[in-house]
Amino acid sequence: MEERLRILRKQIQALFEKTRDKDALESLRIKYLGRKGEINKLFKDIAQLPVEQKRTYGNKINQLKQDINQALKARLQKFQPKDKEKIDLLLPGKKPYIGHIHPLSKIFDELIMFFTNFGFSIATGPEIEYDWYNFKALNMPRDHPARDMFSSFYIKDDLLLRSHTSPVQIRVMENQKPPIKIMCPGRCYRYDAFDASHAPVFHQIEALYVDKGVSFGELKWLLSKFVKFLFGPKTKYLLRPSFFPFTEPSGELVISCAVCGGSGCSVCGNSGWLELGGCGMVHPQVLKNVKISTKEYSGYALGIGIERVAMIKYVIDDIRVFFNNDIRFLEQF
Ligand SMILES: [Zn+2]
Repeated sequence: MEERLRILRKQIQALFEKTRDKDALESLRIKYLGRKGEINKLFKDIAQLPVEQKRTYGNKINQLKQDINQALKARLQKFQPKDKEKIDLLLPGKKPYIGHIHPLSKIFDELIMFFTNFGFSIATGPEIEYDWYNFKALNMPRDHPARDMFSSFYIKDDLLLRSHTSPVQIRVMENQKPPIKIMCPGRCYRYDAFDASHAPVFHQIEALYVDKGVSFGELKWLLSKFVKFLFGPKTKYLLRPSFFPFTEPSGELVISCAVCGGSGCSVCGNSGWLELGGCGMVHPQVLKNVKISTKEYSGYALGIGIERVAMIKYVIDDIRVFFNNDIRFLEQF
């Protein structure tokens, strides 16, 4: 009997030594000192002993119980935290990292806001287009030399990645009767290799207004507002005669260099002027292609390159930085 108690004592001590937290200690306590625990089971054995041994054996079990209790308390002390955890409610919180809006998205947002204020609504279309929408309907039949201006990615003979957002204008005019007043923001593709001023993917916003009696004067008025809105009241602008197959007459919007103020610098090639985009009155053939009466209606259209605007506005001399996603560049906006 005594030998049994000795072994049990050793076992329990060894198990206590191994405990690493309060929970482990608590399960050991239940196992040995609980109501149905190992120690209480020992008391049942007393009934089988001769009378003279009963008292001694009972005392020894009680002693063991006390010793285990003490060892348990000592072990428990080890798991108590040394100091109470302190919370300083006056400490300033950690500032979460907030990302930046990409400069191209910023320009998009500003331009969409501008055109919205003048009553234009957003229209979108597919980036994979039929030749009809990208070229033919825009007065550029298959052998038209102006197609050379748009070095396009063809997927099939009749299918290509759109090289401008103008196909959206055709899609809207095919499905809607004038008055039409839309803007078409979106991504376009041309097979230009990446260099400081070219990218195979770029962004545009175009605006189209078709109604009774729309005039070039209205277009010029809108462009004047547009230039002042984007680049400030001191910016001068010019409309140079130009050519596009889908507008007649066509113009090119040119603004005084935002960097040198018109005196000439490396950004404007010492000319003092920067090209911003193309515009003009919708060509009568384009209106005929979408079955809008040229006797009743006229319209103007304009197109602006988002990268171009961002480069002028933020004085950036390499278009590639918009696509590199270098966090050091993006964090400046
Ligand atoms: Zn300049």
